Amino acid sequence: MVGMSATAVRPKLESLRTLPGDDVRQILWRFTDRYDLQMLVQSARSVARGPVARLVADGGRNSHEWTPRKNELLEAFDKSGITGAFMDLEHGGFIGGPKNLVLALIAFELAWVDGGAATASLAGDLALAPIHERGTPEQVEHYMKLACPPLPGEERKHWRGAFCLTEPIPYVGVDTGMLNGKLRVAEWKDGEEPVLQAEKRGRFITNIAYANFVTAAVDSGDERIKGSCMVILEETDPGTFDRGTPTKKLVHQISSTGDPIFNLRIPASRIIGGYTVKDGIIVPNYSHGEVIESVFRRTRVTVGLMTSAHLLSAIEPVIRYQRGRFRGAETATPGSVRYQFGLQQREDALQRLADVWAAGEASASLGFAAARLFDVVDPLERERDEILRQRGITGGRATMKIMRAAEQVALELLELEPGSELRAQLESDPLVRYVMLDSEANVLCPATKLWNTGVGVNYMREAVSLMGGYGITEDCPGFLANKWMDAQLEATYEGPECVQRRQLSVTMTNPVFLAQFRQWIKEMRQVASTHPGTGACTMATAMMLWLWTLDHAQHSTDADGAKLYHGARQGVTFPLADALGWLLAARQFILDVLELEKCGPENPSVAEGLPGLLQFYADLCHLQSARASGEVGRICAEIVFGFNRHPAWDEEGYKSCYIADDLDSLEGLIPGIAACATEVIGADGSHPAKAGPCASCRGNAAQFQALRTKLDTCLTGARLAKDRAAEAISKVMIPEALDYPA
Ligand SMILES: Cc1cc2nc3c(=O)[nH]c(=O)nc-3n(C[C@H](O)[C@H](O)[C@H](O)COP(=O)(O)OP(=O)(O)OC[C@H]3O[C@@H](n4cnc5c(N)ncnc54)[C@H](O)[C@@H]3O)c2cc1C
Repeated sequence: MVGMSATAVRPKLESLRTLPGDDVRQILWRFTDRYDLQMLVQSARSVARGPVARLVADGGRNSHEWTPRKNELLEAFDKSGITGAFMDLEHGGFIGGPKNLVLALIAFELAWVDGGAATASLAGDLALAPIHERGTPEQVEHYMKLACPPLPGEERKHWRGAFCLTEPIPYVGVDTGMLNGKLRVAEWKDGEEPVLQAEKRGRFITNIAYANFVTAAVDSGDERIKGSCMVILEETDPGTFDRGTPTKKLVHQISSTGDPIFNLRIPASRIIGGYTVKDGIIVPNYSHGEVIESVFRRTRVTVGLMTSAHLLSAIEPVIRYQRGRFRGAETATPGSVRYQFGLQQREDALQRLADVWAAGEASASLGFAAARLFDVVDPLERERDEILRQRGITGGRATMKIMRAAEQVALELLELEPGSELRAQLESDPLVRYVMLDSEANVLCPATKLWNTGVGVNYMREAVSLMGGYGITEDCPGFLANKWMDAQLEATYEGPECVQRRQLSVTMTNPVFLAQFRQWIKEMRQVASTHPGTGACTMATAMMLWLWTLDHAQHSTDADGAKLYHGARQGVTFPLADALGWLLAARQFILDVLELEKCGPENPSVAEGLPGLLQFYADLCHLQSARASGEVGRICAEIVFGFNRHPAWDEEGYKSCYIADDLDSLEGLIPGIAACATEVIGADGSHPAKAGPCASCRGNAAQFQALRTKLDTCLTGARLAKDRAAEAISKVMIPEALDYPA
């Protein structure tokens, strides 16, 4: 690889010429062969950088109300294909197959300009998702068609939806099991379908100003209904459909949010997924938790990508600001260094921008990898269900048994060499494939939501800071301050960080995931051997350190004998989940850059500047790997050592110290020992001025120390990479002006 291979690392390297364009992104995020998606990206972009950007520039975010001007965007979404992209072909959509990557790309394009606009579009999909994932065939057919934008000349009302889970405090929020919304039987005549009364108050419900239907989570308030479920409420149902007052948001104002109140009579056929009647009791086929799990599992990836778009969209405006900072001053005459480079004369300004850029790329890499993975898992999941149906397997226990057997095969095959015949044969079993991909998806989804948004919002602050005072004004090109705050909401909704950490703390310990993770370590070493400048070796060591620490935490206790790794001990599980996010993002970034190296030469416009681009990306990978390793090292060290009690100057602590008199005697036998001894207790009980005798490694922690030291030395070269990346940024060509208004 030019610029990245072992031999190609030479003092004068090719440099980045222009900002990465669509051709490059299509390779990195693997949609070069999807012309339909490329067209949709262009369409979504024209809406984002056209009407959305103009609305934001005209102060559309200064009001909480859903104004006619904001409402016009919905039509722009419909016309551009943004709304219809969610629908399947049979319901009037225009893109076949799974839609995870499609929706991710749309969200990315819209969030490049405004997070609220992206949310308004996504919230419609979110309202439909419970029906799409778990609805009865009739429900799917009915609501998907209603929500599909009418074709030109088609006379029919176009329905829009809202998703209503969150309730006023003290209910729902993070603990989605705590529902106050109630479903009761209003009327149930013999032989007829029951009529139900649905009472639900929502808090912070997106799209509520114009929703024609709402998918709402409710619990049973009647002994004739079992458990919870989700129901579909329509604006014309008898009773109250009060949209409530608009939420006074500081973010995402180009979406409508409010606290609605519903008290409506609905037929029981509105229970999402249907129901059965057993002994006179209505038993919904899916609890609200089951529906929500299948929905959020996909939609959270898209939210994560919104923050990635904010970060990457910041690069061009920051470069332009930095370069033009002193132009017009007497001392900055055209042609002078000050005129040409502006703030980019300064190393720190460039290096911080390199950090933002690398984080943005890594988060996009992670998010799009997750979206693509769900596109593979979705049909496989249906295949799994069909196989189980054909084998007559029903019920949780029987399903679990067969999936456990598939897990066992997966674990065995992961011990085999990749590419071996036996492995390929075992992998061809759809259940085994499903188990492997599902275990990965169960990690990548919460990791994307957690890392991209939570860490992304902090990087967004860095981006804002690089624009100085301008950064925190409405005039800031690229609306960076808006995006900074928006990212905080992206970290919050569809479950804030603690929800993702909680989920990761379970899914990341799945043996099938961990077996794959071990393979990824080997893979990173392989990559490192051919591409040493990418930080892949650092990643492999950091991944080993994380794995070692997880295993240690799972089998160790703290100073008081309490188990370290368990669900309630968030001080252990959550940081390890955070650390994993850093690893996964940096790893995926490296893999994407390898893809660019492989496929770039096939595209003439990419091939032209490829050596410089690859060198730049390799350097970004390297600095991101170094940053990720630093985080992982810090977190792991705190967990390995932080739960031991520090030795004190007491009887127990003295056991590891020398007594001054003894040391004098020993000096006669081993000359020089006194000079080396640091823990010496004087005859009068005096001791060195510090917290206590230094802690030594307990148990097998010496292995950890060896790994940690190795990880530190693995950082070799990372700052040289950052120097190069910074220099490349100072030379890259950018367009004359941003292609959307400020
Ligand atoms: C603009 C906007 C739009 C929204 N749109 C929708 C929508 O369309 N539909 C919908 O249903 N909801 C929507 N929401 C609601 C959103 O999903 C919730 O606000 C979010 O899930 C968090 O719930 P909460 O606000 O009740 O936070 P809380 O549950 O109060 O959590 C606050 C914090 O407490 C801590 N915490 C709480 N529980 C735990 C725990 N078990 N372990 C560790 N820490 C914990 C965490 O630090 C957490 O971040 C929206 C919110 C906003 C602001």
